[in-house]
Amino acid sequence: MVTPLDALVEQARALADDLRLDAVRRWKAEAPGRFAIGCLPVWTPRELIHAAGGLPVGVRGGGDAVEVVRGDAYFQSYICQLPRSTLELALDGSLDPLDGVIFPSTCDVIRNLSGMWQLLFPDKLVRYLDVPQSLRPELGGAFFARELKELLHDLQRLGGRPVTDEALWASIAAYDAHRQALEEVYALRAAQPWLVPTSELYLVLRAGDVLPVEAHTAMLRDYRALAAASGRPVEDQARVALTGCFCERPPLGLIQTIERSGCAIVEDDLALGQRFVRGDVTPSGAAEGPLEALALAFIERGRAAQTMFLPDHCAKGAALVDDARRAGAEGVIFAAASFCDPALLDQPMTAKAVEAAGLPSTSFKYAENTGQFQSIREQTGAFADTIKIWSEA
Ligand code: SF4
Repeated sequence: MVTPLDALVEQARALADDLRLDAVRRWKAEAPGRFAIGCLPVWTPRELIHAAGGLPVGVRGGGDAVEVVRGDAYFQSYICQLPRSTLELALDGSLDPLDGVIFPSTCDVIRNLSGMWQLLFPDKLVRYLDVPQSLRPELGGAFFARELKELLHDLQRLGGRPVTDEALWASIAAYDAHRQALEEVYALRAAQPWLVPTSELYLVLRAGDVLPVEAHTAMLRDYRALAAASGRPVEDQARVALTGCFCERPPLGLIQTIERSGCAIVEDDLALGQRFVRGDVTPSGAAEGPLEALALAFIERGRAAQTMFLPDHCAKGAALVDDARRAGAEGVIFAAASFCDPALLDQPMTAKAVEAAGLPSTSFKYAENTGQFQSIREQTGAFADTIKIWSEA
């Protein structure tokens, strides 16, 4: 019998696999004048696109479902997979529904991809979005609010109408609701991980790449309610935090492999972009305006992620330890995409912080087209055993 939970997960799976963006094509066809904007990892101000009447679409490469043929011709061999498969999808027409793409300042690879996009698709909107390097509101905050204003200007042109502050506040509220729904699912998983297998949650998260935010918030709430009531049996797994998967699409098989090796993932950065700002953007007190509120939320409550420049060298390690502890993780798995500079450069420092906090860790690299998981299974299986043995000793 197909349960409502099974049906929801199958719906999410279909959307997660929707690399030709059929859902986006349908959404655009429903009303004239609609437009869609691709959002490269990690953080983009989806609220602005939403307020301008557009659909933000997560673009994260093709995972293991795309054979890269032409995409390889544009890149050297020693960079990660994401730009190759993203370009492959663009060149074969899969990304045609996108009227523009935002390339946030995540790493050199994404910056270079934005230049390539400009050359290959001169009729589309291409925006490189700088993020602040100073966390002082009067410097970084003011700078970022100006960046957002320029971006909004482009989006208004595409949408063919001015965007009012009221519309921006309404969009911010819609994304606040989405952030809350995400955190509630993550909280349930941390409390009872057997109810929310990450291999299943991963599909639900990915569905959000192509759904309007209101529909995805509803999907998250439904998923949480159905998972909580599922009565799935308790499993005694080693509780781990998974970090480094914030950009490329790790193959679903990789997540399943980690779970089957005896680990319950209780914290991860698979949806880092959507969870980037902690809490609501809507200010509790006075704020100058919606763009300023977004900029302030980014610098004051943005996650100390690998993709951020932070003057405090200890901040990222401390944040990882805090997140792992809050979720009740007993160990940390560093799973960086191959050749991912942001993840790999920080790893020695963050691993040291994790070790100093008394949390065991293990690390490996993956590519989105990884098909061989046996060695990862052996590694994470041994890691899970170590956690269990030491926690019982
Ligand atoms: S996987 Fe790493 S290096 Fe590649 S695009 Fe993402 S952040 Fe940049």
